[in-house]
Amino acid sequence: MANIEETIFDEGLPVNSIAMAKRLIEILKANKTNGYSALPDKDKARYKMCLWLINQQVYGQTGIIHLYNEWEELRILWKGRPKSICTCGHTGDGPNSQHADRYGLGHGACKVEGCNCKQFTWDKFIEKGKDVLSHYHSE
Ligand SMILES: [Zn+2]
Ligand SMILES: [Zn+2]
Repeated sequence: MANIEETIFDEGLPVNSIAMAKRLIEILKANKTNGYSALPDKDKARYKMCLWLINQQVYGQTGIIHLYNEWEELRILWKGRPKSICTCGHTGDGPNSQHADRYGLGHGACKVEGCNCKQFTWDKFIEKGKDVLSHYHSE
């Protein structure tokens, strides 16, 4: 029987995430390592094929994964921070703000590289990654 990653180019894709995750471990163990970087090129491809199978289940087959954006979203979901969003789209108004402190936590200029926002301007609330303002107002 073919390994699960070899089904990647078949007509239909496998759905068993456990088999995909197990195969990742199997590839690592077969190479007596616990990290991707130590794998030989052929098995790096196999490893990536398994990751692709897993990722397409989460993001869709044509999904584009921006790891920093994903990290940022996860951080907000996990940490329950921040409280409000600036018109520039970045967080502010409180601790762990992406805006500098000025007269108050996160009230100054945006610290995100490439953002030219000079001062935090409240746009909306968020709570655990969700816009909670829409729960209180209806237009
Ligand atoms: Zn801003
Ligand atoms: Zn900004």
